[in-house]
Amino acid sequence: MNLTEMIIGNIKKSQEKYFISGPCSFGSYEELRDIVIELKKLGISYIRAGVFKPRSSPYSFQGLGEQGIKIIQKLKNEFDIKFVTEFTSIEQVKKYSKYIDIIQIGSRNMYNYELLKSVGRTTNKIILKRGMSATVEEWLLSAEYIAKEGNKNIILCERGIRSFDKETRNVLDLQSIPVIKSMCNLPIIVDPSHASGRRDIVEIMSKASIVCGADGLLIESHTNSDISKSDACQTISIKTLVNIKNFYDQKIG
Ligand code: PEP
Ligand code: MN
Repeated sequence: MNLTEMIIGNIKKSQEKYFISGPCSFGSYEELRDIVIELKKLGISYIRAGVFKPRSSPYSFQGLGEQGIKIIQKLKNEFDIKFVTEFTSIEQVKKYSKYIDIIQIGSRNMYNYELLKSVGRTTNKIILKRGMSATVEEWLLSAEYIAKEGNKNIILCERGIRSFDKETRNVLDLQSIPVIKSMCNLPIIVDPSHASGRRDIVEIMSKASIVCGADGLLIESHTNSDISKSDACQTISIKTLVNIKNFYDQKIG
């Protein structure tokens, strides 16, 4: 089927931009609260905070699960903020969608069509990450699975694709931004954290993403990056985040 015949090919352009940041995951209420306070000071209203973590090793920290959702709820009552978190099962979508603002579908689940259909039946905004070896076409077809169930609030997220070089975790495909924009009006944001896997290049790649036309960023940050429960090596400090936020505000914020 041609894109113009699909639902996502007929979605109208939105002017909304997204600056989303926060920890990959967190281990306590106090830890996340400290981060929320610092990010709020920067005018960031979307906080990412993983509670159901799809880790490569079953022995790595898997997130706080339901306890994490309760912490998010508590912080939402305390502060005027919105939360982004990943769901990895249909059960989580059914049970917890009402407690968060944006549902993230991770790279590993871009091909999980039943999960895509279930978030398509919610009214949340959905961040759909690119599968780590997905073509742009496959990625857009996954977005169509969500839209076909009724939910058109889809935000695509480029998070890098796998390649042979081990200097970085993935290769950030910045070309996908103008390519997607030439095909449809879905917003596209960039996650330079999972693309690079290293905090020293997150700032420059964030800026490059904005220059290439991204509608926002999804960045892992922490008040004390080194104690981050997961993905510490790619998690940036609040100081670095300030530089990125200033650039974003000047260009598109
Ligand atoms: C994440 O955002 O923490 C994550 C697991 O990302 P990805 O699905 O892109 O690997
Ligand atoms: Mn992570």
